[in-house]
Amino acid sequence: CDIQVSKGEDMKRIIAEHPCYSKDAQHKYGRIHLAVAPKCNIQCNYCDRKFDCVNESRPGVTSEVLSPQEALEKTRQVLKEYPFIKVVAVAGPGDPLANDETFETLSLIKEEFPDVTLCLSTNGLVLPEKLPDIIKSGVTTLTVTLNAIDPEIQAKIVDHIRYQGKVYRGLEAAEIMVRNQLEGIRAAVGAGLVIKINTVLIPGINDRHVVEVAKKMNELGVYIMNVMPLICQARFADMEPPSPAYRQEVQNSCEPYVQQMRHCRQCRSDAFGLLGKDLSQMSEERRNLIKM
Ligand code: SF4
Ligand code: SF4
Repeated sequence: CDIQVSKGEDMKRIIAEHPCYSKDAQHKYGRIHLAVAPKCNIQCNYCDRKFDCVNESRPGVTSEVLSPQEALEKTRQVLKEYPFIKVVAVAGPGDPLANDETFETLSLIKEEFPDVTLCLSTNGLVLPEKLPDIIKSGVTTLTVTLNAIDPEIQAKIVDHIRYQGKVYRGLEAAEIMVRNQLEGIRAAVGAGLVIKINTVLIPGINDRHVVEVAKKMNELGVYIMNVMPLICQARFADMEPPSPAYRQEVQNSCEPYVQQMRHCRQCRSDAFGLLGKDLSQMSEERRNLIKM
């Protein structure tokens, strides 16, 4: 990708004000997720598509999908009332890069709120081809869910992908997926984006492999890694989730390679406010108490 994130961007400030990228920011600054992206181009075995994308949000909830115009309107209201919200993100309910509405929304937000940090999350399947659009839209922080760098392991996690008009399954699908994710991350780092990786910890499938993912992310220059616990649903409904102690052990083994995010709240794809204090779920009365 030949385009670069604009040189004028103050990356230190952006990181310091992003509640997911900076632990210290989580109690001071908030984010708003705009649920404008319902479609997904893959099927993860742990995902029940009746709900939000599990890769960046809490399973078992359904966010109401907004049009880009409605998302702009919501952002206007929320930013006016809660100026401590510095990050506007598209995180689902499907894969943001599989929905044109994502870019329409980002461009509306950028035009009206040039100072907010724009953030995006993706499964990474079409990251290489969408990277120029991502940069043009003004996004500076990007999350990619990457559960394995070995296609044999990835093939156990993703059932199928829809890519360039064709459905792929098994190892073939996994190879395309891993290749595009790694190529996309490498190019995104090269273009100046700050990258977070979400890795879902799936005991018996990728748990012993996660440290290999961390080593590779170190090599690619990823900023932070978020090892998330598997929530057992869909085809993985009968599996055991990792214990908090085991997750911590895995995080500790990854820490020498990539900084670990340990404060993820697995938010909804329509959450707003501070992490863990989702204003979208609060009564008007409680919200008023929080206004700053
Ligand atoms: Fe579900 Fe997200 Fe996976 Fe798509 S990328 S199948 S929405 S968990
Ligand atoms: Fe941040 Fe985790 Fe919430 Fe995503 S799900 S906005 S990484 S706290």
